Amino acid sequence: MSSKRDSNDKQEGEKAASEPTRPPWRVEGAPAESPPPPTPPRRLPSWLGFFVTLLVVNWIVAGLITQPVSKTAIAYTDFVAQVKAGNVKAIGAKGDSIDGVMKESVTIDQEKVTNFKTERPTFADDDLLALLQNKDIEVKARSLFTSSPVWATLLVNFGPTLLIIGLVILGTRSMRSAGGLGGIGGIGRSKAVRGDELGGPKRVTFADVAGIDEVEDQLYEIVSMLRNPDKYRVVGAQLPRGVLLSGPPGTGKTLLARAVAGEAGVPFFSASASEFIEMIVGVGASRVRDLFDQAKKVAPSMIFIDELDAIGRARGGGASFGGVDEREQTLNQILTEMDGFTQTDGVVVIAATNRPDVLDPALLRPGRFDRRIVVNPPDMNGREAILAIHTRTVPLADDVSLAHIASITPGMVGADLKNLVNESALLAAKHDHDHVTTADFTNSLEMIVLGAERNITLSEEDRRRTAFHESGHALLGMLIPGADPVRKISIIPRGNALGVTFQTPDKDRYGYGAQYLRGRITGGLGGRAAEEIVFGNVTTGAESDLEHITTIARQMVGRWGMSDAIGPVSVLPAADANSWYPGDPRAPSEATRQLVDAETRTLIEDCYHDALSRLREHRQQLDDLAAALLSAETLDEDTAYGVVGIPVPEPMP
Ligand code: ADP
Ligand code: MG
Ligand code: ZN
Repeated sequence: MSSKRDSNDKQEGEKAASEPTRPPWRVEGAPAESPPPPTPPRRLPSWLGFFVTLLVVNWIVAGLITQPVSKTAIAYTDFVAQVKAGNVKAIGAKGDSIDGVMKESVTIDQEKVTNFKTERPTFADDDLLALLQNKDIEVKARSLFTSSPVWATLLVNFGPTLLIIGLVILGTRSMRSAGGLGGIGGIGRSKAVRGDELGGPKRVTFADVAGIDEVEDQLYEIVSMLRNPDKYRVVGAQLPRGVLLSGPPGTGKTLLARAVAGEAGVPFFSASASEFIEMIVGVGASRVRDLFDQAKKVAPSMIFIDELDAIGRARGGGASFGGVDEREQTLNQILTEMDGFTQTDGVVVIAATNRPDVLDPALLRPGRFDRRIVVNPPDMNGREAILAIHTRTVPLADDVSLAHIASITPGMVGADLKNLVNESALLAAKHDHDHVTTADFTNSLEMIVLGAERNITLSEEDRRRTAFHESGHALLGMLIPGADPVRKISIIPRGNALGVTFQTPDKDRYGYGAQYLRGRITGGLGGRAAEEIVFGNVTTGAESDLEHITTIARQMVGRWGMSDAIGPVSVLPAADANSWYPGDPRAPSEATRQLVDAETRTLIEDCYHDALSRLREHRQQLDDLAAALLSAETLDEDTAYGVVGIPVPEPMP
């Protein structure tokens, strides 16, 4: 069971800067007396959008002006008759085509006619002009309707050109005033906004970060160097130029970087790597140059590059966006800038990535991101401390124990916990509580982890099948020694699942034994095994189970050296990296791959037989559990173990 991670890095403070002319980076904490940043020139998308909008408006206006009014075609003889009757007000003629307006609408061929058009036969040698003059009808030598005033014609024909010229002039001017090196409209310029710091929200410090103390300690050196660069200069100490924070999403990397700058009280420039290359090819490098220039101007300062892997992937590897060249140019520019630093520059670069394994080794060389800090998910105490931070402004009921909440949220990272607090507060508000209670926390935790309950009615057949499926998982979870205790079983549909069996460990686990992992696979196959035993066939309901256990089995075989045939060799990329890049020297031979497949299959089949035999042996308990589930829909830990007659496992010391 994995929890959803909030990989959204946007900070509250940063949101303030994400207005229409949002720059590719954000600044906070820049000193007020520093030279004001260039006025933000129009950013390309809005520039382009503006242009497109104008074109469209132009086109519509042109359409309106030149669009013919609806005219009824009438016979020439009818037309002449109307002229003679004195009912024609004005006409326009172009060649033999005539159109015009009646004084009063008349009905011709059952159609009401006001605006009309007609064709004068070439052989007609009536003296039409004389007749028209006689009747005092205004005659124009062009169509009465489709023509437009001169200004409109000009606008339609020359408008777009004028627009382009105008915009180019505008663009060039703003580019010059910004002193940038970019192209049209300042596209190549990176645009800094003066941060939200001037009278803006309080800056983030280490007091806002919890649960990762060892990382804070490692970063403190940077803080002290930024605070007091001279002290370091005097003794000639070499300070790291680049620090790479790596760790799973939501562990607080972005937060930490902001805290370092906030703690040191230096300007903080932050940009995500993808923002450098998202717009137009050829500008990534010039933006990098610009960013570093600005940071140097206000040094000591800090530059934070988020999602470094977006530009820093090993060359030739994986997919990239913005094109390989663009990415490489941007990357090279970053490397060049970092190489060009001198100790007196006083600029520290911190980068963050969830994928340190795919980074280009060139980034990690001395003088670049040579200080690497791993940010791990918090342990139980860390979670408690993080919860404390995020509940600072939340009124908690007396029964709430943050330590308890920390204990039931293993695997959750800072972003998850923040989300949990927020969901709980929302739930409390929804129920008109004026304090957030323990129940609010556990209910929203359940919703986050298991998904929201769905309001669908299962057929009796589906309910029965689901009850046995979940009972199969749960019973194996109770029978297999060392398996994570079963906390809850339910056949209320949630999210994509028809039912759930929720198992969590008592404590955070940092390493897994082969025995435990085999148990996970066996338990994961319990649903399918129970279906096979009870119904003699299986359904699609086990799809995600199979996916999950296959992942575990493959890793055991190919990464964790838990298969005798492969031995203690790592032959698979990490679980989240699905493939090797072309020509990756670490990629195993075809024979090895086949062996991995075969071993994975054997392992899973072994586990499946284990699941079948355990469930057959305990068939009575399986039936009891399913029956209890069918009547109660949801069983908690105590009830579930009670039904089966197995003692609830003692919490591990
Ligand atoms: P990452 O950059 O590693 O993906 P973020 O720094 O964006 O994670 O974390 C998102 C949010 O989660 C933060 O703004 C903060 O509110 C919360 N958070 C994450 N880790 C921590 C932590 N260790 N202490 C306090 N809050 C945290
Ligand atoms: Mg982040
Ligand atoms: Zn299942």
